[in-house]
Amino acid sequence: MSNSKFKRHTVTTALPYANGPIHIGHLAGVYVPADIYVRYLRANRKEVLFICGSDEHGVPITISAKNENITPQAVVDRYHEMIKKSFKDFGISFDIYSRTSNPLHHETASDFFTKLYKEGKLIEKTSLQYYDEEAKQFLADRYLIGTCPHCNNEKAYGDQCEACGTSLNATDLINPISTLSGKIPVQKETKHWYLPLQEYENWLREWILEGHKEDWKSNVYGQCKSWIDQGLQPRAITRDLNWGVKVPLKEAEGKVLYVWFDAPIGYISATKEWAKEHGEEWEKWWKDDESRLIHFIGKDNIVFHCIIFPIMLKAEGSYILPDNVPANEFLNLESDKISTSRNWAVWLHEYLETFKDMQDVLRYTLTSITPETKDADFTWLDFQSKNNNELLAIFGNFVNRTVVLTHKFYNGKVPEATNFSDSEKEIIAKIGTFPTLIGTAIEKFKFREALAELMNLARIGNKYLTDTEPWQKQKENPEEVKRILFISLQICASLSILCKPFLPFTSKKLQQMLNIQIDDWQKGGEITLLPAQHQINKPIYLFEKIDDKIIEEQIQKLNDTKQHNLPKNLIVPEGKEDISFDEFQKVDLRIATILAAEAIPKTKKLLKLKVDTGIDVREVVSGIAEYYKPETLIGKQILMLANLTPKNIKGVDSHGMILMAENEKGELMLVQPSQLTIPGSTVK
Ligand SMILES: [Zn+2]
Repeated sequence: MSNSKFKRHTVTTALPYANGPIHIGHLAGVYVPADIYVRYLRANRKEVLFICGSDEHGVPITISAKNENITPQAVVDRYHEMIKKSFKDFGISFDIYSRTSNPLHHETASDFFTKLYKEGKLIEKTSLQYYDEEAKQFLADRYLIGTCPHCNNEKAYGDQCEACGTSLNATDLINPISTLSGKIPVQKETKHWYLPLQEYENWLREWILEGHKEDWKSNVYGQCKSWIDQGLQPRAITRDLNWGVKVPLKEAEGKVLYVWFDAPIGYISATKEWAKEHGEEWEKWWKDDESRLIHFIGKDNIVFHCIIFPIMLKAEGSYILPDNVPANEFLNLESDKISTSRNWAVWLHEYLETFKDMQDVLRYTLTSITPETKDADFTWLDFQSKNNNELLAIFGNFVNRTVVLTHKFYNGKVPEATNFSDSEKEIIAKIGTFPTLIGTAIEKFKFREALAELMNLARIGNKYLTDTEPWQKQKENPEEVKRILFISLQICASLSILCKPFLPFTSKKLQQMLNIQIDDWQKGGEITLLPAQHQINKPIYLFEKIDDKIIEEQIQKLNDTKQHNLPKNLIVPEGKEDISFDEFQKVDLRIATILAAEAIPKTKKLLKLKVDTGIDVREVVSGIAEYYKPETLIGKQILMLANLTPKNIKGVDSHGMILMAENEKGELMLVQPSQLTIPGSTVK
């Protein structure tokens, strides 16, 4: 193995935030890849500790608690248990799943802060912050709402306006009010402690930009470089909040460690907790140069794990640094961003309600689309196809045929095989290459490639059976049939070993069927895994067909969500006074085709359109420049009011008006006929 200079591996995965359940995006980007990696290391007899836990501090949890009128502790208790169960259900094989509300974590994080403080590694700064005089507390950005300076949305939060998506500072809000009391907050001085990131810039350049140029993934390296090149600033590590790890200083009453400071220390406290429970020492996992620290995370966490946490570790002085941070990009769902607030997700606990005992199908699908270098997309049709056309049709079919024939011809006893032909020797040699092929890809964090190689092994087996047709030859050539099934059975055994990191539940079933218990990676590919006369058990199905109906239901569920998410608080103008049919008849509504479009100079919103109305070709000015590029409009059919009195707009004579629909954000969209028609078609 390429990482053989290390004696042991400390593998961490991003701590999920205990403010909601987890979904397939989490699994695909972080936990399944990490689990594959760790299971592979274990099968190679490596010393490894696999760490995770719930991140239970921070402002959003306090807001959930307030909304539900329960304590923050009650919020995190609920989700901690739920998340922990999901991981267990999906076979994510953590050595420990801890949580940051543990007293041991508070103590560890607090000591970490104290050491940096005493050694003068922190700086103190006073700043003005919003304060609620009635609630007697400083207000985190999320506790303020006010008018967005960009879009005038009156309910923008202090950190972000959800109407226009702009990220804000609390001081940007116009007329801010406190969500705690509904009162106008005052600005008050407050003191905080900062980690002076800029002092570590040269060191970061050397450690990452020079030291990890070759071995870190390019998306990770690129993000680090861009952060460092932008210049680093001191970063506050404390907050005015009453939920979190208390700042261990007398003068810091009412302040806690900022959640991004305490959360990564959670990896260390989890190790301590594990060590305590197992009578082991924790320090070798974090303070011995022969330990290899690896952080599995999503791309949103790169800065914390590659820049800030390493600076914390470096400043503390006694810890090792991450050797690799194989961060992945994001997973989308049916071409749309996964979103907790829009409920656009496949939740793990819900998946299992529909697809009972089918964890491996999801693990397989997610691994096959791991967002390694760019965002990936999960679709239900792809999920169905991966199950039916790959797992079932190749892997499952091959194993089933082999086991069924072994029972049919030899009562389930592995046949004796001798005198292999040249082509059989070739197959045997090929099988032997798979542990290295798959292993090399895993070591490079190329999980898609590793899985594809595993399936190639199943494919070789399946094709071998199909080509040699042992079911046809039992009478005329029983010796050849023995050799074919002997080889096929060994491939099944290899698959059971090599599929375990990816498909642990399938591996277990398959080994039960083959009546073996082997978890040694290097034995995968061997030709003597099942000796002659070894008794195997009756065939069971490894995979089941997924019917269209079940997939359609899942798609329908998402469509319902989409429908549900449509804005409901649209302010719809009141209806207008009745008009007579004769009055309506005066309006000349018709379909026109856009022939040409260009921006009108010195205006932001206006386009000059040349349209064919069926009666003539004319020019119309339209205020849609913010929503449509001129070149995209040519050839489009639109609805127009043709007999509006001509008007000169910005120097152009406009003959009529293009009709538009306006959505709740004030954005305009064209109204078009549902099929192409001739220009001049009337609208009645
Ligand atoms: Zn806004």
